[in-house]
Amino acid sequence: MNRRHNLVVLGATGSIGLSTLDVAARHASRFRIFALSANERINELAELCLLHQPRYAVVARAAQADILRTRLGAGGTEILVGEQGLAQISAHPETDCVMAAIVGAAGLAPTLAAARAGKKVLLANKEALVMAGPIFMEAVRAHGATLLPIDSEHNAIFQCLPRSSAGALEQHGVRRVLLTASGGPFRETPLARLASVTPEEACAHPNWVMGRKISVDSATMMNKALEIIEAHWLFGASSEQIQVLIHPQSVVHSMVEYADGSVIAQLGNPDMRTPIAHALAYPDRIEAGVGSLDLSRVGRLDFSAPDFSRFPALRLGYRALAEGGTSPATLNAANEVAVGAFLERRLGFLAITTVIEAVMNALPSRSLSALADVLDADSEARRLAARQVESMAARV
Ligand code: NAD
Ligand code: MG
Repeated sequence: MNRRHNLVVLGATGSIGLSTLDVAARHASRFRIFALSANERINELAELCLLHQPRYAVVARAAQADILRTRLGAGGTEILVGEQGLAQISAHPETDCVMAAIVGAAGLAPTLAAARAGKKVLLANKEALVMAGPIFMEAVRAHGATLLPIDSEHNAIFQCLPRSSAGALEQHGVRRVLLTASGGPFRETPLARLASVTPEEACAHPNWVMGRKISVDSATMMNKALEIIEAHWLFGASSEQIQVLIHPQSVVHSMVEYADGSVIAQLGNPDMRTPIAHALAYPDRIEAGVGSLDLSRVGRLDFSAPDFSRFPALRLGYRALAEGGTSPATLNAANEVAVGAFLERRLGFLAITTVIEAVMNALPSRSLSALADVLDADSEARRLAARQVESMAARV
């Protein structure tokens, strides 16, 4: 490589954003931090700007831009605001690579803008693909973007698949993909206790340190439900070809099974810097700051089938995939509202999936041909989910 790649990190202050900057900073001769974005933590963003000296920083509101400008002084960082600013850095002619690490539906527009500008897109923001799968994949195809998965399971599957298998798994002798799941913090919690678990307990993941929303998703296993849909769009796998396996150690990040019975797995310490480094350097390999996997210390690797009655979110994921159209967008939006309410202690843990199922029952899937269809389904599901949350809170 003879020129440094200009890297944009959407969601720079988050768990994935910070891990991305950690890896990129180890390879300053390869990557230049071109732009950073953040939503709330302006002090953290200011620190990151002082350290990495990006050309652009994007904040959500004008008032935050003023604070950041004061903190940075007359440096070389230009400050942009809001969705327009995010789209601008994603599609900037000098941008090579975009790390899509905003959490939730808020990441859809800038991630899509990066795809439409034909960039190398590193996708952590699974919600964007879940909501708008066919539109997103068509944008990638039509504009020659390169899409690389950051989600550890999908990155593992990507590493285990032959190079050119996208959308044609059978032709490449792939029988199915085995999506591993830790089972989260409540894998063995007595069912009677689940109704009263707190946000703190739900966010205390046994193997990974992550943002709060995805931590709750891991506890309900809605994260795996979203990942089933993500695997469908990334790899062209049908729902029959996607099997979820509980694997509490989070060492086998996922597997691919071939027609001859071979199963290829990708293993590593549970550290997101591995998939991030893999995608950043692809097809090269670079140091990620991750230590060697010591299997003699791990000792044993356990696997079991998931319990769909403990984790009803899994059933909803398969249902949304089977229904297609706007159903995954509805599932995702209802989940974001319900998880937000749980984190604010307005909704019980078990009620998260109850709310989502009620919203899915009330809003039948519609066909999806344009981004407007996705956004309509998203806002309708949010409205209904908010009403559901209120009515459930009123009953308590
Ligand atoms: P996080 O909460 O730690 O960080 C989220 C980032 O998005 C922050 O920088 C925040 O400022 C920004 N953001 C939040 N709301 C925004 C909005 N409305 N507009 C603009 N920016 C906004 O989350 P995370 O754990 O880093 O996860 C980021 C994404 O990566 C999620 O989609 C998650 O599912 C996915 N992911 C995370 C992990 C992990 O280990 N953390 C693993 C796999 C996939
Ligand atoms: Mg994952």
